[in-house]
Amino acid sequence: MKKLDLLYEGKAKRVYETEDETILIVSYKDDATAFNGLKKGTIEDKGSVNNRVSNYLMKVLEEQGIPTHYVQELSHRETAVKKVKIIPLEVIVRNTAAGSLAKRLGLSEGTNLKRTVLEYCYKNDELGDPMINTYHIEAMELATKGELEIINEYAMQINTVLKEYFSRIGIQLVDFKLEFGKTKEGQVILADEISPDTCRLWDKATGEKLDKDRFRRDLGQVEVAYQEILNRVFNSFDSLQEQWRPKHVER
Ligand code: ADP
Ligand code: UDP
Repeated sequence: MKKLDLLYEGKAKRVYETEDETILIVSYKDDATAFNGLKKGTIEDKGSVNNRVSNYLMKVLEEQGIPTHYVQELSHRETAVKKVKIIPLEVIVRNTAAGSLAKRLGLSEGTNLKRTVLEYCYKNDELGDPMINTYHIEAMELATKGELEIINEYAMQINTVLKEYFSRIGIQLVDFKLEFGKTKEGQVILADEISPDTCRLWDKATGEKLDKDRFRRDLGQVEVAYQEILNRVFNSFDSLQEQWRPKHVER
């Protein structure tokens, strides 16, 4: 598969067209940004870690019946994905209070949430990705009621699968961001990435942060944390061969 025209260059990835109009190639960069692009930097090998971790997790999710855009890993940094029309929502899933939620609600970071919380942000850089609710989504026709139901259902299922998966490799899945898109046929599938850039991942034993917060908050050892996630995910390969089924899906 060959890269043709650059379709889009974002903060973390470049997206190319291919000879197949239904397939794109995503190329992950080492560039890191935070606070809506105000803080900029580089995290060595981040692109490679995020690409491989994201592909791995997408495959785990596919095995559990969640449709994703993943097609084929082409190299450590590049992956072929199904082309979708991105639904302009950042779907945030939270198990534990952290980041903007902790601040907004006056909860100390690490407070366990009694149920999984879903939030939506309008994916719009100029507006700084404002938080919106289901009424805004319908009013602005960002997604239909039916599509939103599917998105919510998938987001909860993804959380169940990933929470259990990360727990097995000694990691607490605090929160994460998802993006969904629609194929030409109108199927809603999981797109973009799931990686230490888009999740909060805390070591279960020590509470150490193993995600982009190390960059956002200048905690140091950023590369080490990303490599740690890569190592744990890939060392879990053997234990994943024996399949498991998530026991309970929250709604
Ligand atoms: P950002 O736009 O936030 O800077 P990235 O640098 O990660 O983000 O760029 C990747 C872009 O590609 C994002 O806008 C994302 O929504 C989009 N994208 C991800 N997966 C797909 C896909 N399967 N089809 C089309 N676009 C996608
Ligand atoms: N997140 C993301 N992209 C964004 C905003 C948030 O991947 O544009 C992820 C972030 O890494 C965290 C979760 O979504 O895992 C919740 O983020 P939060 O709302 O707390 O925002 P932040 O504190 O990152 O500003």
